[in-house]
Amino acid sequence: MIYKNLNVLDVINEKWLEHTDIEIKDGSILNMGKLSGVYEDFSYENCYMIPGLIDCHTHIFMAGDADTIGSVQSMNTTDYVLLAIKNLERHIKSGVTTIRDVGGINHYDIELKKHIKNGELLSPDLYAAGKIVTMTGGHGYFIGREADGETEVRKAVREQLKAGADLIKVISSGGVLTPGVDVNAYQFNIDELKAATEEAHKAGRKICTHCHSTQGIKNSVLAGIDSIEHATLLDREGAQMMAEAQTYMVPTLSAVDNIVKKGKDGGIPEFALKKGIDVYRKHLNSFRLALEYNIPIAMGTDAGTPLNYHGDSPREILLMVENGMGVLEAIKTSTINGAKLVGIDDKAGSISIGKNADLVIFKTNPEQQPETLLTPLQVIKRGRHIL
Ligand SMILES: [Zn+2]
Repeated sequence: MIYKNLNVLDVINEKWLEHTDIEIKDGSILNMGKLSGVYEDFSYENCYMIPGLIDCHTHIFMAGDADTIGSVQSMNTTDYVLLAIKNLERHIKSGVTTIRDVGGINHYDIELKKHIKNGELLSPDLYAAGKIVTMTGGHGYFIGREADGETEVRKAVREQLKAGADLIKVISSGGVLTPGVDVNAYQFNIDELKAATEEAHKAGRKICTHCHSTQGIKNSVLAGIDSIEHATLLDREGAQMMAEAQTYMVPTLSAVDNIVKKGKDGGIPEFALKKGIDVYRKHLNSFRLALEYNIPIAMGTDAGTPLNYHGDSPREILLMVENGMGVLEAIKTSTINGAKLVGIDDKAGSISIGKNADLVIFKTNPEQQPETLLTPLQVIKRGRHIL
């Protein structure tokens, strides 16, 4: 199949390749340029094609209910699996062709991967962290694997690897949603984080960390962690450290934005709303600091947290643009940067010969009208039309 005459985004160089034809065969991009052949498709002529989006921070077992923890604790296995299948479908229909899920429940995330790989589900590719590893009583303990001290942390990480996790998620500060923990306080100490990182890297896996706290961010950089999720209370010293170590930030602006904008009417628990409002301005400042210091950024939504729905990843791109990032740069964070962070940039994240045919097509130019990102005309996953 040859798609004729599109404006194709060269996301690496942040420029459009006009009047470009794309040939897809066996789910991959076979050729691009001025092409001709038997099966030519002119239906997307003059439209705009970008790589499939990569959301590096989702929670497919969470629905986005106001009381997330209450919901998670009241669900049974069937509820979890059905919800995840619905959420995966929402992602792919919005143009997200790869997600990294960072908070599995009972390793159902790893189980689901088999069915995705077999092509049984309408779903993005899923990279799953298994259970989050957290200190006793730490953020997310109600779904995670609690561990204290280097030895136990190593064992907890090894358990996730044994189960088949693609990456490891640890917790290095308090969180907004867990009652009674302080977002300003760091949780795992440097030695625990180093032990977790060593185990993940030894196995050839990436490691990410949930972190709001200023000290927690620095601890995580020093421990060699690959990405800091949220990085809410970043200061200049931390920004400098992240830039030097090339530690990724996954800002998840949607998480706090949804709590603050929709929380009061949406029934967010009082304690979470208060914490959210407290950190909102600081979080946006941290994002701007990341831009100033050229910290590598990958897009992630934290979808599944209160009023933060699966299928809304393109809104995260708009939020990054609203807060000072260029549109093409924001698309870059949502494609090739995500691919690098997940470790799949050899096959995903850009429109290049030999890469997976994971593509999104828009009627109008998203660089001029970013809102168009919310309404894709077509999503293509391994050459297959989704819409
Ligand atoms: Zn999260």
